[in-house]
Amino acid sequence: MSYGFETLAIHAGQEPDERTGAVIPPIFQTSTYAQDAVGAPRLGYEYSRSGNPTRDALQECLAALEGGRFGLTFASGLAAEDTLLRSALRPGDHVVIPDDAYGGTYRLFARVAQPWGVQFTPAKLTDADAVRAAVTAQTKMIWVETPTNPLLGVADIAAIAQIAREVGAILVVDNTFASPYLQQPLALGADVVVHSTTKYVGGHSDVVGGALVINEAELHEKAKFHQNAMGAVNGPFDAWLTLRGLKTLAVRMERHCDNAERVTEFLSGHSAVTQVLYPGLAEHANHDVAAKQMRRFGGMVSFRVGDPAKAERICNSTKVFTLAESLGGIESLIEHPGRMTHASVAGSALEVPADLVRLSVGIETIDDLLTDLGNALSA
Ligand SMILES: *Cc1c(COP(=O)(O)O)cnc(C)c1O
Repeated sequence: MSYGFETLAIHAGQEPDERTGAVIPPIFQTSTYAQDAVGAPRLGYEYSRSGNPTRDALQECLAALEGGRFGLTFASGLAAEDTLLRSALRPGDHVVIPDDAYGGTYRLFARVAQPWGVQFTPAKLTDADAVRAAVTAQTKMIWVETPTNPLLGVADIAAIAQIAREVGAILVVDNTFASPYLQQPLALGADVVVHSTTKYVGGHSDVVGGALVINEAELHEKAKFHQNAMGAVNGPFDAWLTLRGLKTLAVRMERHCDNAERVTEFLSGHSAVTQVLYPGLAEHANHDVAAKQMRRFGGMVSFRVGDPAKAERICNSTKVFTLAESLGGIESLIEHPGRMTHASVAGSALEVPADLVRLSVGIETIDDLLTDLGNALSA
């Protein structure tokens, strides 16, 4: 029997505890496990870096929600990414990355992977020809983020999967912005899904974490080996918090999308706003692709106001929208990418416009969000 998304979010990997009947998987806050005899751990658990039942529950649930075979979770999204790079690449390999990649991902490639010997080329992923042009004989991986951060471009996952297959590279999709509820990259041809579970998956801005979902057994074995050998695991309490957040992902995402649509409408009609970036808008350059591969269009909205000082003033003026980095939590956040999340890419190919404001639209009362934005825009 195959279950629906909401059922899997609540039950996959989460049978009632066998010993006590606890309905919710316990937090196994333990570093080590008693063994019945030398070399005979009871359920295969020996040490919590290599395995922990709370982490296993989260890994299994996330894999089910992405429609994948294997889940692995980590201390952060970047820890998941780093572990994947060590598992799938060797010095001498080349990677195509988005020209507006998440700043931390860009930094990982530029400052950690490149000194290790992995070259990369940023490409405009909304343009299949640009992706092809960036491929070299050494390309072993194409890295996709969609929608992108903070410009909300949309890459055609199925089309890029085709290119990856042709050139013998694996396709990695960072699904953080969409979450598995809105978009399932493995079904579209991706080989690996990456998450910063810090964002929509955890959903409550109370825990940092990351995940990989992988279909291929050999790559999973390597990544699982590195999860233990490099040791960037999430702790049991963090895994439990993330799993708790995951249970309500579907209902949260529906409200994030409802509110983001209303915010988009409001901003589109406001005289101080010169451009609204949201994949749900019919005039968005990649709207058709978004409509084809996403269930709805997400909770992230960016907009431009034509003047960097004005953009900063707006960010400093909201009361319900909190001025903060990060995204994907129940609370609404506002930020200035040029001087906050994307300050590290200033001067590079990934630089973002200085008059850009990014919103992570939360699930508060929509009228309060619109009033707050209206006040800030006239400040
Ligand atoms: C936040 C984020 C990351 C990095 O995740 P951390 O949990 O902060 O390490 C990677 N990709 C995207 C799209 C993100 O938003």
